Amino acid sequence: MTRLFNDPAAFADEMIEGFVAASRRWVRPVPGGVVRRNRPAKASVAVVIGGGSGHYPAFGGLVGPGLAHGAALGNLFASPSAQQVYSVAKAADTGAGILLTYGNYAGDVLHFDQAQERLIAEGIPCQTVVVTDDVSSAGPDETAKRRGVAGDLVVFKVASAAAEAGHPLSEVARVARLANDRTRSFGVAFTGCTLPGADRPLFTVPAGRMGVGMGIHGEPGIGEQDVPTADQLAELFVATLLRELPEGVTQIAGSRVAVILNGLGSVKYEELFVVYRRVAELFTAVGLEIVDPDVGEFVTSFDMAGASLTLTWLDRELEEFWRAPADTPAYRKAVAPVEPFVDTPGVVIADAVIREATPESRRAAARVVSVLEAVLGVVERNAAELGRIDAVAGDGDHGIGMRRGAGAALDAARDAVSRGAGASTTLVWAADAWADRAGGTSGALWGAALRSVAAACDDITTPTREQVTAGVEAATQAIMRYGKAEIGDKTMVDVLLPFSVALRRGTDDGQSLAESWDRAAAVAQTAAESTADLLPRKGRARPHAEKSLGTPDAGAVSLALITRAVHAVLASEKRATP
Ligand code: ADP
Ligand code: MG
Repeated sequence: MTRLFNDPAAFADEMIEGFVAASRRWVRPVPGGVVRRNRPAKASVAVVIGGGSGHYPAFGGLVGPGLAHGAALGNLFASPSAQQVYSVAKAADTGAGILLTYGNYAGDVLHFDQAQERLIAEGIPCQTVVVTDDVSSAGPDETAKRRGVAGDLVVFKVASAAAEAGHPLSEVARVARLANDRTRSFGVAFTGCTLPGADRPLFTVPAGRMGVGMGIHGEPGIGEQDVPTADQLAELFVATLLRELPEGVTQIAGSRVAVILNGLGSVKYEELFVVYRRVAELFTAVGLEIVDPDVGEFVTSFDMAGASLTLTWLDRELEEFWRAPADTPAYRKAVAPVEPFVDTPGVVIADAVIREATPESRRAAARVVSVLEAVLGVVERNAAELGRIDAVAGDGDHGIGMRRGAGAALDAARDAVSRGAGASTTLVWAADAWADRAGGTSGALWGAALRSVAAACDDITTPTREQVTAGVEAATQAIMRYGKAEIGDKTMVDVLLPFSVALRRGTDDGQSLAESWDRAAAVAQTAAESTADLLPRKGRARPHAEKSLGTPDAGAVSLALITRAVHAVLASEKRATP
């Protein structure tokens, strides 16, 4: 239960405001998140972390000397947008390049990758290390697909200490990668979590039972068993983590390890200590040397009751960086380095430009607004159902995310039109707002899709059916390029590709846009229903593939609904203009 909130929609922003007010010694707010209050006087690699809100102290609480230089802070359980990551990175940059590092979730990867592309295009060196420590999210042969959980702290800490020591970007990225390769985590949960204002938990665990391998967004676990005693849980944790030695580690006895026992939100520190007592005994019994263990909350999942154990196999280099001092709102170690005070200059993100548009294209831009009104309408009417479908194997936020994205896109489009924008520019504004505000995987993909449609149009003529068809084709290519999903992976691609093919067929047969769109929307509807028979191979639903059999894909369903709603607008225009 989350008890204290005002407007649930404002929760994340208000939480960040309060966090900043309480943490001025370490951080200052910038667009998209926070950066360290004091800049290092000497240029050093800036380690930029981030993710959704609801995981405190990840991510804002881990910014300060010895740890991260900046954190991009997304909405509740939604990745920060590419714009947010970019803006935080710009503010954190001191001229020696940027390391982006964060937990492996599809939405985060899309947004951070786009931010990286943009930084590199501006000549700012930037590398990425994605954290993949959760052993229950994929097998040992697919470690790159694993989710990132409390192992985040080790990777962030090691990377930041290397940056602090003055190492160049390539070195900082190398040790961060090494830390990730040598870190394993495993978690359990006793209850689900309830987001502010929600009337029920995102998921539940039956009373007296324990979800094994549960994700920090409430992704369902891989198994379930009775709640064990504290000692039995310690034994399960230790046995699981010792089963898989990372490459380069040849023996257990005599190895030196960092250990984190992490509470996921509403397990008491006292309970954690009871568990840790047995963890330490067991590790010591097999000859492990524990270095600077941490017991407490480091990466949480709102008010979820649960815990995870993280083990990092240290070498000389990793140990030096793990033990180095740090001083952040939520994490302190030894004496922090004293930094000479240098004021952080504010960042200014240039206002998007409105290109000159013809009256013809401005009329088309007004129709773009009508289309977006229809999109928001259909998303709002179906938001609860989309959330329910997404919760079956994903995290239940698809309705919320689509509503945020479509609403922001509509606002931005109206704003653009009021400033005299043409069709293409209006679509660009809508695309950027959607990607920036929606968060999540689908936010990044819808942003990319709308940008492709924008690129197929211009600010001079009324978009022709050929332009719209080519725009939809380009959007399909863009989504497949960014998301790397193919037909049959149980994503929105399973609807978009057949929709785009059907639209092309109609256009080439000489049908009007409204006619061919009508047929294509029918194809989309059938394709969305058929995703119920597929097993997800992309996105956060993948580890829980079998649970989703019989339920269609949330992103596929929303796309089909939207194509139908857009048709209604196209058809009514046709009637209005004979
Ligand atoms: P998140 O998964 O970050 O919570 P949403 O819930 O808003 O984001 O969107 C989930 C939908 O995104 C899925 O139902 C699927 O249709 C789509 N999706 C996820 N990953 C991909 C991908 N790699 N390519 C295309 N679509 C994807
Ligand atoms: Mg989701």
